[in-house]
Amino acid sequence: MNHFEYRGGILHAEDVAIPDIAASVGTPFYCYSTATLVRHARVFIDAFKGQKARLCYSIKANSNLAVVATLAREGAGADVVSEGELRRALAVGIPAGKIVFSGVGKTGAEIAFALETGIDQFNVESEPELDLISELASARGLEARIAIRVNPDVDAKTHEKIATGKAENKFGISWKRAPEVYARAAALKGIRIVGIDVHIGSQLTDLAPFEAAFRRVADMVATLRAQGRDITRIDLGGGLGIPYRGDNDVPPHPDEYAAMVKRAVGHLDCELTFEPGRLIVGNAGILVSRVIYEKTGDNRNFLIVDAAMNDLIRPTLYDAFHEIRAVAEPAEAARVTYDVVGPVCETGDFLAKGRELPELKSGDLIAIMSAGAYGAVQASTYNTRPLVPEVLVNGATFAVVRARPSYDEILKQDMIPAWLQTDKTPSR
Ligand SMILES: *Cc1c(COP(=O)(O)O)cnc(C)c1O
Repeated sequence: MNHFEYRGGILHAEDVAIPDIAASVGTPFYCYSTATLVRHARVFIDAFKGQKARLCYSIKANSNLAVVATLAREGAGADVVSEGELRRALAVGIPAGKIVFSGVGKTGAEIAFALETGIDQFNVESEPELDLISELASARGLEARIAIRVNPDVDAKTHEKIATGKAENKFGISWKRAPEVYARAAALKGIRIVGIDVHIGSQLTDLAPFEAAFRRVADMVATLRAQGRDITRIDLGGGLGIPYRGDNDVPPHPDEYAAMVKRAVGHLDCELTFEPGRLIVGNAGILVSRVIYEKTGDNRNFLIVDAAMNDLIRPTLYDAFHEIRAVAEPAEAARVTYDVVGPVCETGDFLAKGRELPELKSGDLIAIMSAGAYGAVQASTYNTRPLVPEVLVNGATFAVVRARPSYDEILKQDMIPAWLQTDKTPSR
C-alpha cells in the first residue's frame, strides 16, 4: 500500500499534486511519502507483536537523513554498512544501542569509530575482521558485541546481483565452519559473542528460501549452545520483497513472514533483529521525470525523458521492472509501446523497454513508481548530470530534503593543479 494516487486525474503524493512539486523544484526529482514510510514501518513492527523483535532499518536502501529521521521517530534502529551510514544514523538521533554494523569490508578506522560510539553489534563476516575487532576493542579496554554472519548456502531465488546467501557469494562465513569460528571468537580478548546473523539476499518473493536459511540458523544456535556459546540474539537480516508490478506479483505479507519466523526460530527464545530496507522505503518513493522528446526509430518508439540510468540504475543493473505512470491520468488516450530512455550516452540507459503507455508528448510528466529503495542512493553524476533532488511529502506539505546542486558546485569539486594553471584558467 502506498500514498501515490490520482485525484481529479492528477497523480498526488498524499495531498500534494506532483505537478506542483515539479513546478517548484524542476525535474527530475525523487518524491517520498511520509505516510507510506510510517505505514510500512508500523506494519512490520505490528507483525512481530508477541515476539521479541526489533527493526533495524537498512540504511543503504535509502539513506536520506529525512527518511531515516522519519523512521527513527517510529522507533527504528539502524543496520549500517559503512562509517558514513553510521554517521547518518547517529546524526538523526538513533541511539548507538540500536545500531548494528554489517558488511564484508569494515576498515580498521570504521571499526574504531563504531567501537567509540558504542554501537550495539558487529555482524562479523570473516576471521581477519574478527581479529581486527578484537585488537581494536581490547586496545581501548572495550568489549565488542558480535554476531557471526553465517552463509547458509541457500539459493534466495532472486536476481543474481542481489543474492548473498550462496556459498559462492562473498558474504558471511560458511555455516559449516561456524562452530570453529565461534570457538575462536570465544577465546579472543575484547569480543563478546551475543548472537548469530544471516542475510540471504534482497527482493525475495517466496518464503521458502528464508525458511530454509532460518532453520539452518536455528540448528546452528542449538549446536553452538551445546558448545557453551551464549547465543541470545538472532539477526535475520532483511530481504523481504515488494510488489513492483501492482497487484500481479504480491510477495508474502509481513504477517506471513513473521509467522514463518516464529515457526523456524521461535522455540529458541532469542531476541530477534530484522534489517528490512526495500520493504520499508521501496514503495514509499517515486522518481518524477519530464518527457524531452518522442522519437520514432525504425522499429521502436523512444520516449526520451530527463531522468536516466545515473538517477535510477535498477533497470539496467538488475533488469528491474518499474511501473511507469503518466502524472496527468490519460482519459481515452491512444496506447503506444515505448522504450523509455534517458539522455545518457549508454545503450544501457533505459528505464523501461517495450512498455505500453498512454501516448505521451514533450513536456508531459511521468512517474517511475517504487523507486524509493536503491534509487537515489545509487545515483551518480555520470555525464556531469546533477544529482537528482529529493523531496519529502507529509500530508499537504512538502520539503526539499536534498537540493539539486548547481553546476558551479559540481565543477568546484574538481581542482586544477598548479602546473595546469594558465592566465586563462578561470579563478574560482
Ligand atoms: C542490503 C541489506 C539489507 C536490506 O535488504 P533489503 O532487501 O533492502 O531488505 C539488510 N541486511 C544486510 C546485511 C544488507 O546487506
